[in-house]
Amino acid sequence: MLTYKNNSFKIELVKSGQLSLTENVRFFLNKIEKNKHLNAFNFVFADDALLKAEEIEGKIKSGKHGKLAGLVIAIKDVLAIKDKPLTCSSKILQNFNSVYNATIINKLIDEDAIIIGKTNCDEFAMGSSNENSFYGPVLNPIDNTRVPGGSSGGSAAAVAAYLCDASIGTDTGGSIRQPASFCGVYGLKPTYGRVSRYGLTAFASSFDSIGTFTNSIEDAAEIMEVISGYDKYDSTSVVEKVPSYKVNILNLKKNLVIGVPTQYFSTGLNEGVKNKILALIDNLKKDFTIKEISLPNMDYAIATYYILTTAEASSNLSRYDGVRYGHRSREYTNLDKMYKNSRSEGFGKEVKRRIMLGTYVLSAGYYDAYYKKAQKVRRLIKNDFDNAFNEVDLIITPVTPTTAFKLNEKSNDPLEMYLNDIYTTSINLAGIPAISLPLSTDLQGLPIGVQVIADSLKEDRLFQFGKFLQDKNLIKRIS
Ligand code: GLN
Repeated sequence: MLTYKNNSFKIELVKSGQLSLTENVRFFLNKIEKNKHLNAFNFVFADDALLKAEEIEGKIKSGKHGKLAGLVIAIKDVLAIKDKPLTCSSKILQNFNSVYNATIINKLIDEDAIIIGKTNCDEFAMGSSNENSFYGPVLNPIDNTRVPGGSSGGSAAAVAAYLCDASIGTDTGGSIRQPASFCGVYGLKPTYGRVSRYGLTAFASSFDSIGTFTNSIEDAAEIMEVISGYDKYDSTSVVEKVPSYKVNILNLKKNLVIGVPTQYFSTGLNEGVKNKILALIDNLKKDFTIKEISLPNMDYAIATYYILTTAEASSNLSRYDGVRYGHRSREYTNLDKMYKNSRSEGFGKEVKRRIMLGTYVLSAGYYDAYYKKAQKVRRLIKNDFDNAFNEVDLIITPVTPTTAFKLNEKSNDPLEMYLNDIYTTSINLAGIPAISLPLSTDLQGLPIGVQVIADSLKEDRLFQFGKFLQDKNLIKRIS
């Protein structure tokens, strides 16, 4: 077991000689080895991590260390790390190595984090169970017969099973929050544009965001403070200055008003999950004002999300053509067949399904009926949130309709799988931040998360509220 609750404690332990960073990294490497069956990692960088541990231990002892000194972190295998594999858990990128660092990787390294490996995920981050990976599924550490959620399933499982201190995931429609909820850890999806996407393999560019899995709210705040900010290499990154999330974590607004949207608690929500979240809301009544709100266009979120993201994906994934990089078929007699065979062999079933759907909704006869209409509904959903945030400071909802489901339970029914994203996709459509906090467990001991949503660029409020709940023992990482 770990003897520290967050990375600031860890730095203190290293400074006072009570913890050796090299031993700490060895502890994680051992755990990774012992938990190979979870399949959480695509690649482990044991030698690099040990070398770094030694170097950073020295820096901590001489007081010249960065903000994340010694934090052992795993990176979802959709982000570029120079000279390391970048596969997106796809056969098409099986032998591809990155030639540069993503901006967030540079930021993590500059603040002395230690990168221990790259985590498994659904192919090109498309999925809700991590079963769509060329490297095989990831198992949920709490119950190995169940999925960890997806698409950042490896990142969630790695933190839940104590294979690292924290991990980086991406969230296009719920891929951080849903696995965090299924595995009982903290998962933050920031405002769209808060974190640079430079070096992130694009799935749906107007939705993709990079965020964290952690054991504590403090670590989430600290990492986000480091990785957020404007980047000249990503024109969609937000120019606004990053506040000190860590310093402000205790400054929760007085007279906070919390909104509870009726639409999120209707049919389809598992009773056990619903009751735990309603019990929390009840508990909060003594400290805050609770207000019922309406998000009337929420019913259209899944359809809108799957039209727009598949459209963007069909365009983004056209670059995998067997010419520039990645897998090239050996079977072809002309250029057209080379493209066709390389893509047919390289992409998995779900990715192909989405490319076809996306190509269809963008085609001349259907563009207006699907793509353009979905863009309009996206605006309506954003308006719903804008209206809600005129009345409330935060919104509380479930993260997922159920706790972690069984492996193979939904893998042959894409629509059933997509319904898992019912409470998460609207947040990406609106581009606002949300966090999944580990609330409790169901009767079978499976984790239940609660989703807290804030207005654009109000991540600090999520950290402050999370800190309040954590200090009151109302939420706690599930072990
Ligand atoms: N489960 C959603 C999907 O399959 C979300 C994926 C994600 O956020 N990357 O698209």
